[in-house]
Amino acid sequence: MERLIYLNGELVKTKEAKISVFDHGLLYGDGVFEGIRAYSGNIFKLKEHLDRLYNSAAAIMMEIPISKEEMSQAVVKTVNANKLRDAYIRLVVTRGIGDLGLNPEKCQKPTVFIIADKIKLYPEEYYKNGLNIVTAATRRNIPDALSPRIKSLNYLNNIMAKIEANRLKVPEALMLNREGYVAECTGDNIFLVTSGGTVLTPPLYIGALNGITRAVIVDMLSDMDVVLKETPFTLFEVYSAAECFLTGTAAEVIPVVDVDGRKISDGRPGELTLKLKERFQEITKKDGVKL
Ligand code: PMP
Repeated sequence: MERLIYLNGELVKTKEAKISVFDHGLLYGDGVFEGIRAYSGNIFKLKEHLDRLYNSAAAIMMEIPISKEEMSQAVVKTVNANKLRDAYIRLVVTRGIGDLGLNPEKCQKPTVFIIADKIKLYPEEYYKNGLNIVTAATRRNIPDALSPRIKSLNYLNNIMAKIEANRLKVPEALMLNREGYVAECTGDNIFLVTSGGTVLTPPLYIGALNGITRAVIVDMLSDMDVVLKETPFTLFEVYSAAECFLTGTAAEVIPVVDVDGRKISDGRPGELTLKLKERFQEITKKDGVKL
């Protein structure tokens, strides 16, 4: 279906939404992005996504040419122009058009585009029965080289891990950091529930994205008086967990039932996982910026 794309301040048809081959987002992966969802006419956690986008831009020393308020209006305008109530929104800011050298100073102005489209969910059976995942041999980018907290257009590290998952015919791959601690999946954060009922998630310094969905779950656990520990853990803790689940804007809250061929507990989605998944769905219905 032909969509209307926001491109540098204008809404243009998909066919006309074109980016220069000299854009450094394309030549060097020099840029930042967000994946956002709208549920039943509400854009979920838009402020948090925009804060992360502008923080990512600040980290790579790129000044986004419009204010957060203008960006927020641009997102709303794009979703409305496409008459969507439930949507997946991709917001991208690249360094802009430069020359063939990598010097960002040659780029005059960042390119901003917003795509609003229908959401493609994982098949329903994954939510019901849980995911099988594998640990990738590819380690997560080391924060001293490129912080995984920057949501940049450089996703090759994650893509290498995703290729490993594809080769083993599973939908996600778990990534360790250089020291062998569990960091996150290629597009999701990870949580465990121990046999004692404590929830574990890797601290961000291990090398993981500060997931917006992760933060929603952290708040939810606190409301439910469940003990959460942001603490480093290894694959041993994963294999011996009572429950495991992933969080992300696209995946939402999704159970994991098998990691590297080891069944998590009895191989069925855990009770707390299912409760959180349900609560998350309730929150998405009532929270958000109105379209
Ligand atoms: N980690 C990575 C590497 C991701 O790409 C994503 C998805 N953007 C996440 C975690 C989950 O973040 P969020 O909940 O903000 O979508």
